[in-house]
Order: sequence, then C-alpha cells, then structure tokens
Amino acid sequence: MAVERIYLDWNATAPLLGAAREAMLDALAMPGNPSSVHAEGRAARAVIEKARRDVAGLVGAEPAHVTFTASATEAANHVLSPFYRMGKSRVAVGRLFVSAIEHPAIRAGGRFPADHVSEIPVMRSGVIDLEALAASLAVHDPADGLPLVAVMLVNNETGIVQPIQDAAAIVKKFGGLLVVDAVQAAGRIPLSISELGADFLILSAHKLGGPKGVGALVSRGETLMPEPLVRGGGQEKGHRAGTENLAAIAGFGAAAREMTADLVERNVMITALRDRAETGLRAAAPDAVIYGDGSKRVGNTSFFHLPGLKAETGQIAFDLEGVALSAGAACSSGKVGASHVLTAMGEDAATGALRLSIGPSTTEAEIDRFVLTFAKIAARRKLAGKAA
Ligand code: PLP
Repeated sequence: MAVERIYLDWNATAPLLGAAREAMLDALAMPGNPSSVHAEGRAARAVIEKARRDVAGLVGAEPAHVTFTASATEAANHVLSPFYRMGKSRVAVGRLFVSAIEHPAIRAGGRFPADHVSEIPVMRSGVIDLEALAASLAVHDPADGLPLVAVMLVNNETGIVQPIQDAAAIVKKFGGLLVVDAVQAAGRIPLSISELGADFLILSAHKLGGPKGVGALVSRGETLMPEPLVRGGGQEKGHRAGTENLAAIAGFGAAAREMTADLVERNVMITALRDRAETGLRAAAPDAVIYGDGSKRVGNTSFFHLPGLKAETGQIAFDLEGVALSAGAACSSGKVGASHVLTAMGEDAATGALRLSIGPSTTEAEIDRFVLTFAKIAARRKLAGKAA
C-alpha cells in the first residue's frame, strides 16, 4: 500500500490555493490582450489591475508601484542594477552590498559586475551585522555612485527575521537605496514597505499559494527607478515589457488577497504547529540542534541538524516514509550543497541540516507524523552509531 504523502516544504514552494486556481482558470478563458482597447482587452486589463491592488495590499504599497515580473529572481535582476533613472536623467549606482545569507537570486548580484558587489556578514545569531554594514557604507565613496543594499526580511533556510528598519536607517544615513527580498515574509508576517523603510520589495507568488513563474518588484515611490531589464512594448508602464501572463498574475492576486486576510490569526496557528514539531523533535533527540531558535523567526520554519545524520540521507529517509521536506534550500540541480547560510553563521555546514516548512493547510496530525518519523530516523541513527 502506498504511503500517504505529507508536504512540509512550503518554503520551496507552497501548494496552489483554491482561490488562485479558480482565478487562473477564469483568466485562461479570457481571449483578450490586456493592452488591447476593445472590450476583451479591457476585461483582461481589469484582471491585472485587480491583482495589482491585491498584491499592493499585501505589502501596504500603492498599486501603481507594483511591477509584475516572471519571478522574484527576475525582479532581483531588474532592481540590482547600476543603471537607474530619475525622470530622464541617469543616476549611477556604484556598488551593491548584499548580506551573506541572501538567496542566490540576490547573491548573484543582478546586473553588477562581481567586483562591484560586497558581502555584509551576519552574526552567529543569523542576524545581519549592522555595524559591519555601517562600516562598509562609510568607506564607500559616493562619487562612485549611490550605494545599493540588499537585505532579506526572512531567511528561506532558517526563517530568521532581519532588522530591516535598523538597516534602513543606516542605508538612509549614507544616502543609499535599500532592496528587501520579502519572498519568504509575504503572507507570513504583516508587511508595509514604508514602515520597513525599504525602497524596493521583491515578491514571488509561489511561496504564498500563487502559481510558479510570477513575481513582483514593488517600489516605495516612482521617482527613482531601475532601467528596465526586459525592453520592448510599453507594458507595466515601460518597466517590464512583454504581454502579461494574465493567468499567473490573476493567481498571484487571488493568493495575495487570501493571505492578507486573517494573517496574524493564521500565523499564530502555524507557529503553534511549528513549535509542536520542535518540542517533539527535542524530546526524540535532545542532541538535535535547531538553528536560529534564539533569534526572532517566522512561525512556519524549522531548520535543524541531527548529529550523525547527513542531511541528504535524512531527506531520503523522510521521503521514503512519505514526508517531503528539504535538506537546506532547494536548488535547481536537486543536489544538496553546504548551506551558505550556516557557513555565514559560523556553523559547521558540512553535514547539513533539514528544513521543515509549513503553511495554512498543515495539520496537527501531519506534525505528529513528522515527529514519529523523525524519532524513527533518530533511533536508527543511534543504532548505526553503536554498530560502527
Ligand atoms: N528569494 C527567496 C528568499 C527565495 O526563497 C526564493 C525562492 O526560492 C527566491 C528569492 C526566488 O524566487 P523565484 O522562484 O520566484 O525566482
């Protein structure tokens, strides 16, 4: 008999919400191009503008400041650019500063040459070293162009929340721009671009129950904008050319709307489930290490290490028992490399760690099955250790 599967890998991608699926099916049935002026075109345009309002609502932004892209990675490549414009004038951005724990979409540096990218360390707690950020910005020569800083709000591996408001104050002091990757925060913690003090936010639909392959770049204003990455027709007010992916954008909007409603209450429940998992984990293996448990974390993520168990082996063992979770971050090759996040935190990343990440439809029964499976794997590890 096939084992029933449970999905505990929401930070890799979240299951599509029913509301998103419905919105997508409706949009797929629409014939019009959103740029056309006839009724069919206007109907498609209305779907996009509704989605824009819903995505803006998720992050407390103006709808006019939301640019849809094909992914968060594309939004990152758009905004991490040495080329900005204020009206018709070009504004040079001289150097990019990224935290050491950023997702590869940001760490790759966008359109900056590698020698124009500096890394800002994090402390053992997994939190960005703000003094190091200030020190790096202090030695940046503004004559070389504005400094651009990228710090994520929630880390995808550990779930640790970064002190964005403090980082923003430092960036402002040095006249820089702040880009915040809010991919793992959106729908999980209340978000307001202006309260955060960010100049730009990066979002991805598929982490919050929308479809894969659509994201957004959200700006605080419209005065200073990166030059477009994708040029062509004037879609997205010239910021991102190409006929819009109507169905994907509709699904993104529906997911954003659903995740904005009852956000706080929902996340109290999710956090309780994550804490239940961690209590079970500690009881089954008191030597298990939970990374970031002393820091402020988002409520849906647990990143843990079991001495004597290689993360890859652990992931396969869970998978065979019907439990889908991650060994570190999902990467395109499916291979598990040493976590750059753990390395940046000064942890021994060689054997790796496992990540449980959950969402609104996760149940207590699923968490209990995770704990039972974990206990089984931990016991086997001990037996193997004794036999060795
Ligand atoms: N940023 C973070 C923190 C992520 O977790 C991810 C996805 O793994 C991305 C960016 C990239 O998102 P997308 O898949 O939409 O390109």
